[in-house]
Amino acid sequence: MFVTISTTGTAGHPATDLGYLLHKHPGRAQVFSTSYGTAHVFYPEADAERCTAALLLEIDTVALVRRGKGKGRGGAPDAALAQYVNDRPYAASSLLAVALSNVFSSALRGVCDARPERAAAPLPLRVEVPALPARGGPDLVRRLFAPLGWTVTADPVPLDTAFPQWGDSRYVRLVLESDRLTLAEALRHLYVLLPVLDDAKHYWVAADEVDKLLRAGEGWLAGHPEQQLITNRYLSRRWSLTRQAREQLELVRLAEADDSAVEEIDNAVAQETEAEERPTPLAEQRRAAILAALEASGAARVLDLGCGQGQLVQALLKDTRFTEIVGVDVSVRALAIAGRRLKLDRMGERQAARVKLVQGSLAYTDNRLKGYDAAVLSEVIEHLDLPRLPALEYAVFGHARPRTVVVTTPNVEYNVRWESLPAGHVRHGDHRFEWTREEFRGWAGAVAERHGYDVAFAPVGADDPEVGPPTQLAVFTKTEKEAKAA
Ligand code: SAH
Repeated sequence: MFVTISTTGTAGHPATDLGYLLHKHPGRAQVFSTSYGTAHVFYPEADAERCTAALLLEIDTVALVRRGKGKGRGGAPDAALAQYVNDRPYAASSLLAVALSNVFSSALRGVCDARPERAAAPLPLRVEVPALPARGGPDLVRRLFAPLGWTVTADPVPLDTAFPQWGDSRYVRLVLESDRLTLAEALRHLYVLLPVLDDAKHYWVAADEVDKLLRAGEGWLAGHPEQQLITNRYLSRRWSLTRQAREQLELVRLAEADDSAVEEIDNAVAQETEAEERPTPLAEQRRAAILAALEASGAARVLDLGCGQGQLVQALLKDTRFTEIVGVDVSVRALAIAGRRLKLDRMGERQAARVKLVQGSLAYTDNRLKGYDAAVLSEVIEHLDLPRLPALEYAVFGHARPRTVVVTTPNVEYNVRWESLPAGHVRHGDHRFEWTREEFRGWAGAVAERHGYDVAFAPVGADDPEVGPPTQLAVFTKTEKEAKAA
């Protein structure tokens, strides 16, 4: 795997300044060991007119597999041999991006004490990647790089020059040229877009990948026409991560638009409020049922898990019985809107002391959620992929363990009664599943059993004799034995 970065010099600015900017001396070949193999940095040419730095990555396919990271797309294990015999050593890919960020970390951040003015200024740059795996072909390569100010040459590499009839491989020879970008910008483009084009990540997508993407994407990703594709692919289509990143980018975009930011969130809230004035009775009935269940439980300190845009938090605040209310959501955008709705910034001290909005995922245990009287999961469980549900179950019933847990979820049987809902469709595009009454009861009963709770069920909305109510509600209460033990 191989990438070269070249620049040309001008009077007073020798091309060899590239060495300062990359923090790598042009006169020396350097070797770095990375977790996947060895990275070499050297300069095939280095004089005042032209300077080229090369990064060559020698992949150790055995180390790759030993580290348990030689997985194929989507995390599925590759066939055994393919783990060892593959294109990784030859093709630029996500590993090259990782090496770039390891070897040129200061340059990526634009840090250069020796030549700060050069680091901050655009340079004439030429980047060449001789073999770039590009799912989506030369066309996608152009769509990704051209909007960022690059002149793009992307030539398909034939499978075999001796047999042109075999057509092209999935590789392109990529040349990028620009004199409008700083070196840091250029490196950050490569860091994000090489793995996006490769589209097969070779290490697990962890939660901090979102942060990495946002950091590297600063200043260019939020406004990129292919932002969605980039985010999707970079985060390997892992849905919740992808959505989180998109929401944060949306906030960045709003913040960049500056004044319009507050206005847009206001508008979003206004639209919500308008919708409330033509009340969706079911949402209101649901809130009333939840409030009633909480009151009956005697709870004072309440968690609203997956609080969304804060409607229930708002209702809880109006009732002085509830002394502490915490809204939790994974979505930064939803929380921003909830904050506006509640007017957190203009709230009196006493009121403000009662309410908190925190960002967090319910798929992970979280000590901040321990010690509350009650937790609400209103229309949340169906937003998790079914295989993630046990993680939420453990985080809430096994770890946070409030005395009372109120859960609501749609009753799929009722869907035939919705006039606008085509048969077989769920109510919301984001619902991962919808359950029959029996399925919900089965799940809730098993959860109660596993974690020492009793559970009771109630309908929300008109209880249709045939298909049941539109919403089903369960109230879990710690068994007496468990409550005493706590
Ligand atoms: N409770 C609100 C919102 C329901 S929409 C109501 O009843 O109207 C579902 C909410 O769950 C969304 O705001 C979504 O961001 C949140 N959510 C989905 N998965 C989550 C997770 N793993 N952790 C925390 N919140 C999550």
